[in-house]
Amino acid sequence: MRNVIIIGSGPAGLTAAIYAARANLKPIVIEGLNTDHQPGGQLMITTEVENYPGFPHGITGPKLMEQFRAQAERFGTEFLTEDVVKAELKGDVKRVWVESKGDVAIEGKTAIISTGAVAKYTNAKGEKELQNYGVSACATCDGSLFREEHVMVIGGGDTAMEEALYLANIVKSVTVVHRRESLRASKIMQDRAFKHPNIKFLWNKTIHEYLGVEDKRLRAVKLEDTRTGEITEVPIGGVFVAIGHTPASQIFMGQVDIHDNGYIKTVPGTAQTSVQGVFACGDVQDHVYRQAITAAGTGCMAAIEAERYISAREA
Ligand code: NDP
Repeated sequence: MRNVIIIGSGPAGLTAAIYAARANLKPIVIEGLNTDHQPGGQLMITTEVENYPGFPHGITGPKLMEQFRAQAERFGTEFLTEDVVKAELKGDVKRVWVESKGDVAIEGKTAIISTGAVAKYTNAKGEKELQNYGVSACATCDGSLFREEHVMVIGGGDTAMEEALYLANIVKSVTVVHRRESLRASKIMQDRAFKHPNIKFLWNKTIHEYLGVEDKRLRAVKLEDTRTGEITEVPIGGVFVAIGHTPASQIFMGQVDIHDNGYIKTVPGTAQTSVQGVFACGDVQDHVYRQAITAAGTGCMAAIEAERYISAREA
C-alpha cells in the first residue's frame, strides 16, 4: 500500500512529489506516456518561461521540468512512465491501473490528481485527417518542418502569441487568425507580436475547413468571417491551432465531482476533491490562472493535505 499516488508530472504533480517525498511519504508519480499526457506536462512543449520566479533571465520549459523532476527524485520519489487507464478512488483504498500491470492495481492511502490539460482543436472539417500533415498544436515540436512555408496561428490568447513569435523567426511568414478583433493575450505578448515584422493579423475569422485531405497534405484553408459569414479560401502550408486547453479529467468521471466544463471540483482554498483522501491540483482543477507557478502552489497544498489526512487517520 502506497501512501500517495500522484497522477501526472507537470509543475503541480512534481511539486506535490517534492513535498510528499520530504514528508517521508515515498510517493509514486505515474508520470504519463503518450503525446497528450507527456511527462513534464505542457511546459515540455514551451520555449522560454519568463515569469517563473527565481529565473530572472528565463529558462526553457523542458529545463525547468528537468529540475523539478531531479528535485523530486532527490528525496526518494518513484516514477512510473505510463498512463493511468482506470481509477477507483471512492473507497478507503485508492486504486489505479496502468497498462503494464494488467489487472493488478496500484493501491494507495491517498491519490493526488495532477493530470493537467491538453490542447484543444477547432474540429473544423479536415482537421483530424491533416494532423501531422500540416496541422499542429505545437510550434516548438513541429515548427522546423515549416521553414519554407507561410503558416497560420489560430487563436488570440498568450499561447497563440507565443506560438506566433516562435514561428516568426523560422518560417516564411505568420498570420494570426482570430475570431474577434481584439486579442485576449497579455499586453506584453500583444506588443511583441504587433511589433514583429513577420507577423500579420486576420481579424474576425475562424477556420471553416482544411483543404488537402485527398493528398494528405494541407494546401489551403477556408476561412469564415464571424460577422458576415462570408467564406474565403486562402492557400497556406501550415496551421498551428492555439485556442486553449481541455482538462484531462475524463478518466476520473464518476469518481470525483467534475464541473460541466470538465475541471475537477475542489473545495475553495484547498486541494480537496469531493472524495476524502483524493486531492486535485494544477490545470486539471484550475480554469482561472493556469500558470506553472499556481500549479506548483496547488501541488504543494495537495501534498500537505494528503500528509495531514494520513496522519489524522493513523493517529
Ligand atoms: P486562452 O483561453 O487564454 O485563449 C484561447 C484563445 O483561443 C482565445 O483568444 C479564444 O478566443 C480563442 N478560441 C477559443 N476557442 C476557439 C475556437 N473554437 N475557434 C477559434 N478561436 C478560439 O488560452 P491560452 O492557451 O492562450 O492561455 C491559457 C492560459 O495560459 C492563460 O491564462 C494564459 O495567460 C496562460 N499562458 C501564459 C503564457 C505566458 O505568460 N507567456 C504563455 C501561454 C499561456 P476569444 O478571445 O474570442 O475567447
